Formats: sequence, C-alpha cells, structure tokens
Amino acid sequence: MTRTVVVVGGGIGGLAAAGALHRRGWRVAVLERAARFAEIGAGLSLWPNALRALGALGLAERVAAVGVAEAGGGVRDRSGRPLSGVDNAEVVRRHGLPLTMVRRADLLRVLLEELPPECLLPGGEVRAVRPDGGGAVVEHRGGRLRADLVVGADGVGSAVRRSLWPEVGPPRYRGHTAWRMITGPLTGITADGAVFWGRGERVGFTRLPDGRFYCFAAATAPPGGRSAGGEHAALTRRFGDWPEPVPALLAATPEHAVLRHDVHDLPPLPTFARGRVVLLGDAAHAMDPFLGQGACQALEDAVTLAAHLDATGDVPAALAGYDRSRRPRTRRIARRSALLGAASLWSWPPAAAVRDHVARLTPASVTTHAMAPVLGWTP
Ligand SMILES: Cc1cc2nc3c(=O)[nH]c(=O)nc-3n(C[C@H](O)[C@H](O)[C@H](O)COP(=O)(O)OP(=O)(O)OC[C@H]3O[C@@H](n4cnc5c(N)ncnc54)[C@H](O)[C@@H]3O)c2cc1C
Repeated sequence: MTRTVVVVGGGIGGLAAAGALHRRGWRVAVLERAARFAEIGAGLSLWPNALRALGALGLAERVAAVGVAEAGGGVRDRSGRPLSGVDNAEVVRRHGLPLTMVRRADLLRVLLEELPPECLLPGGEVRAVRPDGGGAVVEHRGGRLRADLVVGADGVGSAVRRSLWPEVGPPRYRGHTAWRMITGPLTGITADGAVFWGRGERVGFTRLPDGRFYCFAAATAPPGGRSAGGEHAALTRRFGDWPEPVPALLAATPEHAVLRHDVHDLPPLPTFARGRVVLLGDAAHAMDPFLGQGACQALEDAVTLAAHLDATGDVPAALAGYDRSRRPRTRRIARRSALLGAASLWSWPPAAAVRDHVARLTPASVTTHAMAPVLGWTP
C-alpha cells in the first residue's frame, strides 16, 4: 500500500524531505503557507556536509551548476587586517568538496523540480496537527489532510511544534538583527569574499555565480526594530566607511534588495519525534546563523529521515532512530554557532580586542580542523 506523508512547510528542509520520500514511492503533499513556493533574495553557504546530503538526494551536479566554490576570504578586523578564518583549499583537501555559495532561490528551484506539481499545495497554512490512530491529521487553511507521517518543516515559528510540543518555549531572540542582500552586477572587485568583525557589528560578502555578490551584516539591537529612513540608508551609515569593497557593494545594492530579520534560535527540544509526527530544519533546531549551518543541517535531517524510513517499515521506530541521530548533533552545532556568533558581536572594546588577537594567532588550518566534525558528516 502506498504510504502517505504531509510535509508542512515548503522551505529548503521541507522540500528536501518531500523529494527524498517521493523518490521512495511515498505519496507526498507539501502544505506551504505562502501563496507560492519561493525563497528570499539572499545567498546561502553550503558546506561539504550539505553537498553530501544533496548528493544523497541525487542533486549534487544540479546544485554545483548553480553554485560557486568560495575562495574563502577569511575574517578581517574593522580596519581590514586579516584575522583568521576557514581556508577553502584546506576544506577541499580534507573533505573533498568546497564551501559553495548559491542563491537560495536557485537551490529551492532545484528542490522543487524533484516534485510533481500536484504534490505542492501553496496557500495551505497549517493551524494544528493531532495524532489520529496510526497516522496524524493536519488542519490547514483549506481543510484537513490525514497521513501516515507528518513532517513539520515549518521553520522557527513552527505551528506543528506548537501543536505537539506545547511545553517547548517560544523562539529566543539572539540579541542581534541580520541584514541580507544581493547586489546588482559588479565588475572590478577582485576579492571573492571576507567577513569584517567590529564591535557589536559585523559585515561580510561573498561572490555569487553571475557577477553579483551576496552581502550579510549583523548588529546587536533590541528586537523588532526597523531603521528610520530605510535599511539601505542605515547600512550605509553603519558600514559606509568600512574597508573596501564593503562601501562599493552597498552602493551597488538596490534599496529594495535589503532584507532585515531578527535572529532567533530555539531552546533544546526533548525529542524531534512524537508518534507519527517529526520535526526537521529550523522547526526542530533553529540556530544562530554564524556557522552557516542551519540549512545544511535541514538537508542532513531530510536525508537521515529518509534513510531511517528505508531501514524499517515501522514509522515510529524510524522516527525514534532519526531523533537519536539528529538531536545530539544539531544541539552541538547550535551551541557552537551561538558561542562563536556571540563572540563575533562583542562590543566591549577590551573583549573585542582579545577576540581579534586570539583569532589572529589562530592559523586557518586550526579553524578548518575544528570544523571537521561538522563538515565531515556523511549520509
Ligand atoms: C541571517 C541568516 C543567514 C543564514 N545563512 C545561512 C547559510 O549561509 N547557510 C545555511 O546553511 N543556513 C543559513 N541560515 C539558516 C537557514 O536560513 C535556515 O536554517 C533554513 O532556511 C531552514 O530551512 P527550513 O526549511 O527548516 O525552514 P524555513 O526556511 O523557515 O522554511 C519554512 C517554510 O515553512 C513555511 N511555513 C511556516 N509556517 C507555516 C505553516 N503554519 N503552514 C505551512 N507552511 C508554513 C514558511 O513559509 C517557509 O516556506 C541563515 C539564517 C539567517 C537568519
């Protein structure tokens, strides 16, 4: 008998899981709150662990075709002097794959192409999920669906998590806000990327495949803020006199392209699975973006979930195996990302000076070595 799955959320994690299960013969429905399946105008770093996950989904070549291997500009201080950072040549040497930058929309398109259009249900905001015998029922805007398995991939504010994990607290504000943007086409910039650390703020950039750049910035701020006069003007005031090419990149960014989001993570969950319902991606383990691992972990989740469902026809047993595989690992990575992310935004001058000094004394090979447990994951 064909097994049925409802995936709640059509982001990177949800579509990766949906594609993996569709390939295995599950009847899949993806309920997405938004009116269409789309991603924000930002870039995404895909580390070797994510590229291996995409390989397991049969998508390695298609993602490589829309991505660019980052040369790894490393971390710099506020005046542009090199501190440290991961060396991409060393990443390739150790892990056989490069840190790769993609546009989020391009990755989403590749994932969407794996699914027949009839699986995709946009405008299907989910309100609640409840267990129902040997399955679960999903209440959504247009009605209800019953399935053998429900995958909650509906992001940090997950309605699935709220329904079945009522004891888990709300997302926690990390104390900083983030800006992301893709520039217009630019020539004359030789660097492929870098991240500059200041006091209570940081800004970085990386090259995208089509002559544009992805820029990202963060600053400590109260939650819910918006910049009077617009975010582009605020970024120009904040970073307009930082080392080149930051000012040139800001000048080449259309005003409407600047996105601002407050950064939240989640308290640790006691389990990622309850009955026939499982959480993945940000719904399970939203984390500080400092390590660029949130979507990478969502891809690992999707592949691991499919593998556990392959291994046994007993869905709750497969979900328990998934939980055992994924929870400790994502917890460790989230903790590390939170610690390093916080340090990168220290604003007390002596602390920032010590941080920069330690980073300057740390060879890139050591930083890359320290990332090995994260990047060395295999499906
Ligand atoms: C500033 C910043 C930079 C980042 N950079 C990187 C990076 O370089 N590399 C990396 O790997 N990660 C990065 N991340 C993390 C990454 O963006 C997330 O981890 C990733 O998008 C999680 O994917 P997801 O599919 O789990 O959730 P989401 O991307 O949040 O997708 C959830 C989907 O569910 C839908 N949805 C929500 N509620 C409902 C509902 N009730 N019913 C139906 N649908 C619903 C939403 O519309 C959305 O489409 C970054 C994050 C931030 C904030």
